[in-house]
Amino acid sequence: MWDGLDRPDERRLVVIGGGPAGLTAARTLQKLDANWKPEVFEANAIVGGISRTESHEGYRFDIGGHRFFTKVPEVTAFWKEILKDEFITRPRLSRIYYNGKFYSYPLKITNALGNLGPVEAALIMFSYGKVKVFPRRQEETFDDWVTNRFGERLFNTFFKTYTEKVWGIPCSEIRADWAAQRIKNLSVTKAVWNALTGANDTVSLIEEFEYPRLGPGQMWEVCADTVEEHGGSVHLKHKVVKVEREDMRVTRVLVRDDQGEERWVEGDAFVNSMDLRTLLRVMDPPPPAYVMEAAEKLKYRDFLIVTLVLDDADPFPDNWIYVHSPEVNVGRIQNFRAWSPEMLPNDHTSSIGMEYFCHAGDNLWETSDEELIKQAGRELEAINLAPASKVLGGKVIRQPKAYPVYDGEYTDALGIVREWLDGFENFQTVGRNGMHRYNNQDHSMLTAMLAAENILGAEHDLWEVNVERSYHEEFVTKKDDDESDGQDGDTPKYSVVIPAHNAEKTIDKAVNAACQAVPAPAEIIVVDDRSTDRTAAIARKLGAQVISHERAKPLGPARARNLGARQTSTDYLLFLDSDVELEPDAPSKLVREVASDDGIAAAFGSYGTRQACPNIAARYANLRHHEFHQTGRREAATFWTGLGVIRASAFAAVQGFSESIHKPAMEDVEIGYRMRDRGYRIRLVPEAQGTHLKNWKLTQLWRDDIISRAIPWSTLLVHNRAPASLNAKGAERVKAVLAIMTLFFAGLTVFSPPAGIAAATAFIAYVLSNTHFFGKLARHGGPLTALGGVFLHMAYHTYSTATFGLALARKWLKLPPLTEKTQTWVARAVAQPSGNRKP
Ligand SMILES: Cc1cc2nc3c(=O)[nH]c(=O)nc-3n(C[C@H](O)[C@H](O)[C@H](O)COP(=O)(O)OP(=O)(O)OC[C@H]3O[C@@H](n4cnc5c(N)ncnc54)[C@H](O)[C@@H]3O)c2cc1C
Repeated sequence: MWDGLDRPDERRLVVIGGGPAGLTAARTLQKLDANWKPEVFEANAIVGGISRTESHEGYRFDIGGHRFFTKVPEVTAFWKEILKDEFITRPRLSRIYYNGKFYSYPLKITNALGNLGPVEAALIMFSYGKVKVFPRRQEETFDDWVTNRFGERLFNTFFKTYTEKVWGIPCSEIRADWAAQRIKNLSVTKAVWNALTGANDTVSLIEEFEYPRLGPGQMWEVCADTVEEHGGSVHLKHKVVKVEREDMRVTRVLVRDDQGEERWVEGDAFVNSMDLRTLLRVMDPPPPAYVMEAAEKLKYRDFLIVTLVLDDADPFPDNWIYVHSPEVNVGRIQNFRAWSPEMLPNDHTSSIGMEYFCHAGDNLWETSDEELIKQAGRELEAINLAPASKVLGGKVIRQPKAYPVYDGEYTDALGIVREWLDGFENFQTVGRNGMHRYNNQDHSMLTAMLAAENILGAEHDLWEVNVERSYHEEFVTKKDDDESDGQDGDTPKYSVVIPAHNAEKTIDKAVNAACQAVPAPAEIIVVDDRSTDRTAAIARKLGAQVISHERAKPLGPARARNLGARQTSTDYLLFLDSDVELEPDAPSKLVREVASDDGIAAAFGSYGTRQACPNIAARYANLRHHEFHQTGRREAATFWTGLGVIRASAFAAVQGFSESIHKPAMEDVEIGYRMRDRGYRIRLVPEAQGTHLKNWKLTQLWRDDIISRAIPWSTLLVHNRAPASLNAKGAERVKAVLAIMTLFFAGLTVFSPPAGIAAATAFIAYVLSNTHFFGKLARHGGPLTALGGVFLHMAYHTYSTATFGLALARKWLKLPPLTEKTQTWVARAVAQPSGNRKP
């Protein structure tokens, strides 16, 4: 944990690296407290790191074009403060070159179909359909992740060759994390939808971006000047070659200039942005052997750009082109005039950046500049962009460690390195290579801003800066006042309780999302119910309080929640399932609802429409749940623990969840009954939402639906023990009848073919009576989910009705309810006279 420092008059911050992260750390600390004097040491001759702008004979060019795009308001404010009105807004035009053709990117449906031809397009759709029905079970690698979302054929066409060019390893060796981070939320249906409507909502599809007039380097050059104007210093061509430490406190760094002269520089606080592997190599004394071993497993992909000057003002209109074709080595092509005309010294030539992904020391890297320029010219001609004869000259820049590699061993290795580095008192590591994260400038900068705040006493966990969240939802950084008392003025303090059993696949997302809630919870308690996997370790690492027990067997979620609730210190208990990723505003909506009226004991929310799982059964189940909660009465009859708040006093009054329920079943409904028996009210707040991460399998869904839901519900219904609001609505009964009629007549066609007409009529009527829900399935789950959903929903109506019929028959025959063994509380409820249950 970071130690806040006292603040005597002048203190020195030593920053390693003058890239976006290093300069942001220096400038932010300077702004926050003028007593701090930052000293930045940059190995290169210019600032900006990978975001620098190089120049050659008056042509300016990036190390790969750098868009300025962010959803982090603090970053936007920083950029504007530094560059003021030096930004220009550029339209984005980019295409994919594959198999001799150019594809618009984002996809345009007519262009894509025209290029692919109807046969290939049909094969792609077929392979997409196939994977939707039979998804890959494991999603560990890049090819698993992409294939599950796009189908194998589209993966091979558009993703495989380019990705392998970028990383230099097979897609089967790249972790799925990278895909999830870069192309999250982009699906075939979404791409088609975007193509038809012009909508645009993913990181890969941003259509307009800001760009400094003179390239990204301009930002960092002005930033360095600003740091110096305010008393700091930026030393170029000064490489940090040793980081000296006393136990877990850094004392000084050894700096070497380009003449080979060395000097020691002391500091009170240190911020690093050099790559982690080198950092640990230059630590003195070195870290323990196991940490070094882990650091050596971190790998990087290098990059070189050949910038060609062409005797042609405008060879093509794109900002950049992705080159997927394997026949040429080039991976991406930049057209710097399209970024900013001021990047060029005249208006009759063009400046084209040919980007090659490579490994330092490989053939490409070692090829002479002269030969690389020739090769780039040949490749430009090979893909019909410009004849090689137009090349007037060029410049080669080699960029080592352009990309941190997400391979099979990086997660564990990074975990070890991170844990060791977290132990430092006065040393933090930030940025892209400084955290081995595929960060753009904005997140590199954000980690640096938070590091500066930490120096002044804040306790941000820099590793929580989460790329995916901030692109797809509003980014929320915890403000100090949020952290101090957990309140935002209106929302009372609350505690989060998460029961977890072998939840290592989802617990990180559940806890992270709870941490990002606004206002933040006073505490997050994870009750680890005898997990045999890494659930507890992950939750602990993310800052949750983890409670375990010594019983031989798992207690079940009901008792686990009670155990967690006993440890809470606030008046509102938010129960959250370990596979639910809540929206940042969900807790406040629920807590406020309960706090608004003393008579309300509890409030619960709903699953949202965001789909985290590829398989159709999961999408259907989650959207069906969503639909029920969106259309249910606000004045609810039962409770739901997926995402629900109970007032602590009411929870105590009903003595918590029933400890006799061992399996996840209807313990939430049961506690709802008892709360209502005591006269408490319960509210459904459909706007308070979370994403369900459970990847339901069909058999599991049906088993749960029938055993845990349909049987007990039917039993309660036939014995008049269900609350009035839960009686199947008239419309639901009609739908059930139509589903059964469809199946009945369809079966009858075997004996009497004309029954097919009746079956088709019943089926059409069934579909029409469910258009709202099926439309929702199509919009949020995709066409195949809608198609599969029709049959799953018919099955649901059929088995629910059959179960109800069975319960009715048993009642008439005076047989005990089916639930007697598994759901004793239902049997008890049936035996009791009806209480005050009317909503
Ligand atoms: C091809 C490509 C395209 C990209 N496109 C975009 C984009 O469009 N938009 C975007 O926002 N981001 C983009 N990025 C990412 C962006 O470049 C990085 O996020 C950003 O530069 C990271 O900043 P940083 O300060 O963490 O690291 P760096 O930029 O790597 O800076 C680290 C600095 O530390 C210096 N250094 C290293 N070791 C030492 C040492 N021992 N002593 C002293 N100095 C040292 C380095 O010389 C360097 O200047 C792109 C990256 C690449 C590779």
